Amino acid sequence: MGALPGVDADAIRRNLASVRTAIAAACQHVGREPGSVRLVAVSKTHPPAAAQVVVDAGTVELAENRVSELLAKQPRVDDAVWHFVGRLQRRKARDLVGRGVLIHGCDRRSLADELSFRAGEAGTIQRVLVQVNVGADPAKAGPSLPDAAELVAYARDLPNLAVEGLMTIPPRPPDGADPNEAARPHFAALRALRDELRTEWPEVTHLSMGMSADLRAAVEEGATLVRVGTAIFGERGRTAWQPLRGGTP
Ligand SMILES: *Cc1c(COP(=O)(O)O)cnc(C)c1O
Repeated sequence: MGALPGVDADAIRRNLASVRTAIAAACQHVGREPGSVRLVAVSKTHPPAAAQVVVDAGTVELAENRVSELLAKQPRVDDAVWHFVGRLQRRKARDLVGRGVLIHGCDRRSLADELSFRAGEAGTIQRVLVQVNVGADPAKAGPSLPDAAELVAYARDLPNLAVEGLMTIPPRPPDGADPNEAARPHFAALRALRDELRTEWPEVTHLSMGMSADLRAAVEEGATLVRVGTAIFGERGRTAWQPLRGGTP
């Protein structure tokens, strides 16, 4: 019955329903409209057929964290809207602009410059979120909270960039800690920053925060985009999905 090699479509649909229920419950808990949170399914390492199951079930926004994987999947999944959530190398910026992708990780001036330049060449405006290192974690990209406004100001002044909000990845929770409660103050801090910036720059609206383990706190603290992989697709493979590997479609 429409079985796909290596893809358990029923499990993916069940997981997706659970994630949507969790988002709705978190919204209800704080009096938010469930429609104010967009679910972005992070399909990295999973085959296009798995991503298509999610899109066909009504979650049309997908994300990848490697440029090559996004480029390989984009033509193989119908009706999807794409996001890029990885660390973007300057030399790969050109491959991403002009493809309608929201880039979550604008984390430094040199990348902002390059994205704006390439968008200008392509005759387009590139939409980005500025990535903020809320926990001042040496392993994470982006300016810390006190320096974030400066990067937002810089990026929004570039001719071919539109800064639509902020993104963060909180520090890994300490062993044994509740991931939601460990992340909550970081999410609250990003929201406070967004609220402050938005008074001057109304286009800075989105808050991309929350992954499988800390989705509830992110929604309760105001996320408008949540990036969920494992809770939808199950455990990830160790390597990127690639075409022409004799693997699953
Ligand atoms: C992989 C990834 C996610 C999804 O993580 P899960 O824990 O699998 O939900 C979210 N955001 C970014 C930036 C990622 O790289």
